[in-house]
Amino acid sequence: MYPAAFEYHRPTSIQDALGLLAKHQDDAKLLAGGHSLIPLMKFRLAQPKHLIDLGRIGGLAGVREEKGAVVIGALTTHATIEHSELLKGKCPILPEAAARIGDPQVRNMGTMIPPRTGPP
Ligand SMILES: Cc1cc2nc3c(=O)[nH]c(=O)nc-3n(C[C@H](O)[C@H](O)[C@H](O)COP(=O)(O)OP(=O)(O)OC[C@H]3O[C@@H](n4cnc5c(N)ncnc54)[C@H](O)[C@@H]3O)c2cc1C
Repeated sequence: MYPAAFEYHRPTSIQDALGLLAKHQDDAKLLAGGHSLIPLMKFRLAQPKHLIDLGRIGGLAGVREEKGAVVIGALTTHATIEHSELLKGKCPILPEAAARIGDPQVRNMGTMIPPRTGPP
């Protein structure tokens, strides 16, 4: 199956990504690891006209401690969470849960994503 035609955007800053989202609104979808969205597009259950790939935006991935809180970036993969020593110490349920998601290929690409508020 092939997805419907779409325009591919690869912003390198959050500002540019927000600009694209503001411009294309409901016609646009963000792309992170692609392990949920791409299959949906291939089955044409999702047909965004614009795909905004977040992969080139620096600083969105990783786990760190900041002002006493643990911060997990939006592009942090399941594998990073699985192997994070910080999380193993502070919140071990997350690495334990991440280790049970899919297989290594999925965990190396799939990211933590915010709760969905609408259709995929
Ligand atoms: C073979 C296989 C096995 C899997 N097994 C499991 C499993 O056992 N458990 C499980 O929980 N999941 C499983 N998954 C799902 C996988 O973990 C998801 O792909 C992943 O959680 C979603 O992250 P992604 O980076 O792939 O998102 P994408 O596919 O890129 O995006 C998914 C959705 O989130 C939106 N989105 C992405 N990033 C953002 C962002 N930063 N802000 C706002 N919206 C955003 C996208 O627009 C899209 O609507 C499996 C997937 C596959 C292919």
